[in-house]
Amino acid sequence: MNRIQQLIKGNTKFKSQYFPYFESELIKSIKHGQKPEVLFIGCSDSRVTHDLMLDSKPGDMFILRNVGNFIPPFQADNDFHGSAAAIEYAVSVLQVKDIIVCGHSHCGACKSLYEEIPDDDSLVHIRKWLELGQKAKEFTLRTIQDPNNKEELYRQTERNSILYQVENLFSYPAVKQKVDAGTLKIHGWYYSIETGDIEYYDLVEKKYKPISELKP
Ligand code: ZN
Repeated sequence: MNRIQQLIKGNTKFKSQYFPYFESELIKSIKHGQKPEVLFIGCSDSRVTHDLMLDSKPGDMFILRNVGNFIPPFQADNDFHGSAAAIEYAVSVLQVKDIIVCGHSHCGACKSLYEEIPDDDSLVHIRKWLELGQKAKEFTLRTIQDPNNKEELYRQTERNSILYQVENLFSYPAVKQKVDAGTLKIHGWYYSIETGDIEYYDLVEKKYKPISELKP
C-alpha cells in the first residue's frame, strides 16, 4: 500500500472513529462561522503535528504553517504576503485572543541558515525566506559558548529564532494595538520532536520553561 492509499484509508477511519465526536459542533460552525481563539504559527515540518501534540479539535485554532515558522515583518505593499494575510485575518477578523509562535527542535530551516544555499532558480524563494532567520543566527553566534558544538548551535538558534519572530509580529499595527490594550497575548513555544515536550518563553525570567509551569 503506498502513502496515498494509506491516507485514503485514514480518511475512512477518521469518518467512522473521530468525525462523529465533532459533527454537531461542525454543523453549528457552518451556520455561525468559525470562532477559533488561538492563532498557531508553526513550521511546515512534517513532524510538527499541532492537533496531535496539543490534543486540539476542529475549530480550536487558526493555523499558519510555513518554512521555519518565520514571521515576515509588516510590509504594506502590493506583493503576495500569505503569512501576513493569515495573521491579519486571525487578529482583525477572527479576533483571536492568543497567538502561539511555536518553533521546534531539529528544524531544517534553522539548520540551513548555516549552510550554503545553491544559487539556483529552483530555490529562489527559500533563499529569500531564510533571511528571516538571520538575526537569530547572528545573535546565536555572538552569544554561544562553543559555536563548534553543532547540536547546541542549532538548538539555541531554534529557540532564539522564536523570539525574533515574535518581535516581527509586533510590527503588525493591529497586533501591537491589541497587545497594548490587553486583548491579545503572544506566546513563544518550543516543541521537542524527540520527546513531545513543549517549553514556553518566560518574559520575566527571560528563559524557556516547561509548559506545565505556564499560568495563562
Ligand atoms: Zn522547522
